[in-house]
Amino acid sequence: MTRVAFIGLGNMGGPMALNLLRAGHQVHAFDLSEQALARLTAEGAKAAATAAAAVEGAEVIFSMLPAGRHVEQLYLDDSEGDCLLDLIDASTPVVDCSTIAAETARKVASAAAARGRRMLDAPVSGGVGGAEAGTLTFMIGGDAELVEQVRPLFEIMGRNVFHAGPAGAGQVAKMCNNMLLAIQMAGTAEALQLGVANGLDPAVLSNIMQQSSGGNWTLNVYNPWPGVMEGVPASRGYQGGFQVDLMLKDLALALEGAAASSQTTPMGSLARSLYALHKKTGAEGAADAGSLDFSSIQQLYSR
Ligand code: NAD
Repeated sequence: MTRVAFIGLGNMGGPMALNLLRAGHQVHAFDLSEQALARLTAEGAKAAATAAAAVEGAEVIFSMLPAGRHVEQLYLDDSEGDCLLDLIDASTPVVDCSTIAAETARKVASAAAARGRRMLDAPVSGGVGGAEAGTLTFMIGGDAELVEQVRPLFEIMGRNVFHAGPAGAGQVAKMCNNMLLAIQMAGTAEALQLGVANGLDPAVLSNIMQQSSGGNWTLNVYNPWPGVMEGVPASRGYQGGFQVDLMLKDLALALEGAAASSQTTPMGSLARSLYALHKKTGAEGAADAGSLDFSSIQQLYSR
């Protein structure tokens, strides 16, 4: 049994921490939201009153926060004395699973290293469903030995564990993957609309393209056309899944990463514009499509 500190118990962090608990580990949990904390303590986690209390005596620390500013604030804020990194035992691995800029991940990791602490950036793919089922993919930046040390815990929360390279590399892998995902989803929606407008049944067209060179993950397992596939967000009013707002956040990180490395990402830029337009112009009957699943980009083409 490992004593784990888990900070950030939202849609992703909550079920991830729950899987650690169910595997027999002791979880000392902290979240600014009392509701999020209560959900986990009801399952047997120990509630900590502060992040500092959660990390006390922890053998591994995980965090799963909304954005880079929350991660910086959690680990580096020293406005009330020591920052959290100062309070952590030097032998305790610190693993941030939030999706943030690679630059921010490197900044926090180097602040940790300056204090003799060891940190990994380990963003995930797989969404809330993957977090609940324990089938996430971890993309990890940092020291390879540290990845191996934490691997048994990663394997409880996920099915795939990749060491991408040094600090920040996990975030680079994540931004590349999600940029490609957005491009594929927009392309798939565009092709389906073109076929339907020209008289094809979307299910028949999907079947043909799945078996042909246009086949891809968004078409094959996450089809954006309502009713073509059971159990996907498109067939339940685009509820659940991966929100347009989160895809916009990830595309912004990809474009920032491109600017920081002087790269051109025309397809990524276009995908971001399409998603921004979709969010703004709204889904059918709603003012803003931000909270819908990202496959709802289909409606931008269908309107
Ligand atoms: P969420 O908003 O549901 O949860 C974040 C939690 O962090 C909240 O409960 C909030 O109260 C808490 N929090 C914020 N600041 C805190 C602090 N200083 N100390 C303690 N708790 C704090 O977000 P989420 O959907 O769980 O996403 C978390 C991260 O995972 C994000 O970086 C997101 O981009 C990434 N991600 C999300 C998904 C998804 O499908 N939701 C998929 C992959 C990756």
